[in-house]
Amino acid sequence: MRITVIGAGLAGTEAAWQLARQGHEVTLYEMRPEASTAAHKTADMAELVCSNSLKSESENTAPWLLKEELRRGGSMLLEVARETRVPAGHALTVDRVEFARRVTERIEGEPRIRVVREEVKELPGEGRVIVATGPLTSDGLAGEIARLTGSGRLYFYDSISPIVDADTIDTTIAFAASRWGKSLDGTDDYLNCPMNREEYERFVDELLRGESVPYHIAEDDPNTPFFEACLPIEELARRGRETLRFGPMKPTGLDDPRTGRWPHAVVQLRKENCRSDSYNLVGFQNHLRFGEQQRILRMIPGLEKAEFLRYGQIHRNTYINGPELLTRTLQLKGEERVYFAGQISGVEGYVESIATGFAAAQFAGAETAREFPRETAIGSLCAYIAGADAENYQPANITFDLLPKLGEETARRLRKDKKARHAEVCRRALEKIDEYFGVGV
Ligand SMILES: Cc1cc2nc3c(=O)[nH]c(=O)nc-3n(C[C@H](O)[C@H](O)[C@H](O)COP(=O)(O)OP(=O)(O)OC[C@H]3O[C@@H](n4cnc5c(N)ncnc54)[C@H](O)[C@@H]3O)c2cc1C
Repeated sequence: MRITVIGAGLAGTEAAWQLARQGHEVTLYEMRPEASTAAHKTADMAELVCSNSLKSESENTAPWLLKEELRRGGSMLLEVARETRVPAGHALTVDRVEFARRVTERIEGEPRIRVVREEVKELPGEGRVIVATGPLTSDGLAGEIARLTGSGRLYFYDSISPIVDADTIDTTIAFAASRWGKSLDGTDDYLNCPMNREEYERFVDELLRGESVPYHIAEDDPNTPFFEACLPIEELARRGRETLRFGPMKPTGLDDPRTGRWPHAVVQLRKENCRSDSYNLVGFQNHLRFGEQQRILRMIPGLEKAEFLRYGQIHRNTYINGPELLTRTLQLKGEERVYFAGQISGVEGYVESIATGFAAAQFAGAETAREFPRETAIGSLCAYIAGADAENYQPANITFDLLPKLGEETARRLRKDKKARHAEVCRRALEKIDEYFGVGV
């Protein structure tokens, strides 16, 4: 079969390679160097646009599990990562120039892959297509995707709120309540961290003082500064000391059961849909350095000992609303010959992009797509893309929260040993991925 892959980044090169390995003929489109993006610097494929780290290699962590599954499936990019590794503690860190050079060399040397260096503005009218054009998809193609997927389902900005581990919230301070007592399902939907006037003022002071991360995107990018709808909290604080209190920290309608009154300000925590063990700080997207976020967010009453599973971020990111548009085999609903992979499918991160490129190739290359087992990290990413809450959809990194919980008995047996629980989740995942790949069957 001839299959088209658009975008020779991390997802696209992995997908093209896997399809060729299955015996398919691939046409791989890449717009660079003819046209470029605000972040890419070279004409090489699989360029790492920022850090050169593919994250932790510590056994039994979620990023390790995802890489291990890919290695077992024969990922080309992880093989090149091993070849080009540079020492960096527990992380898999690569020589970025050598990494991209070798991936390009392999792709260009593969007879089943025809590389076409041109910008795609319209999807080919027939045949299977994997769209892997990344967070900086060209405007022309983005317009075509918006037309295909319907308005409002393609996003250009990613504003991520921090997520906190539920076990580390002090619920003697944070109280459960919905604004005006209006709950979606009869239970209190939010945990609320109350602030008095002094606490609020101190918090605003520290936000104003907080150190931000420099933006990677050119100042003249039309999408910078942010959409008004997703301003970072430090920017809101800069606009006026009371702005936050009339925005994401609005206390109206929230009775603190200990005082019977509305607090001066409130930080609302919303349960993550797919992540019942964690809460999202509603409207708390920000662009502060991670260390600064930890320090400042721990000033919030009830979060003094909070462990953050994810920090807030804001960056340019083109991605579609996976839960509304894609199946668990990454196919566009109603146009099943079109697959999405990489950051545009709604994942976040280098290895997550490689993983969805790998998965899309398994799906597109098969007569009938076979889902990855839900217990695996790859299967969990696909399940997140297709099954997360569509209304509050945000791209995700791999974390243990995305993987299904252990059975009741095992969870009870290991309840005091988090490391052992993680090891068990990994053991189960690897057993399932081996079955999927037919190892030892
Ligand atoms: C500025 C920035 C910094 C980031 N930093 C990190 C980081 O440090 N760590 C991390 O894990 N993740 C990071 N990410 C997120 C993400 O992991 C990377 O962007 C990753 O490269 C995504 O892989 P991808 O294959 O989806 O897209 P890409 O690797 O960007 O590949 C997409 C390819 O498609 C090409 N393309 C686009 N439009 C067209 C078109 N119309 N026709 C033909 N070709 C086209 C592009 O030129 C590109 O080569 C960052 C993202 C951005 C934007």
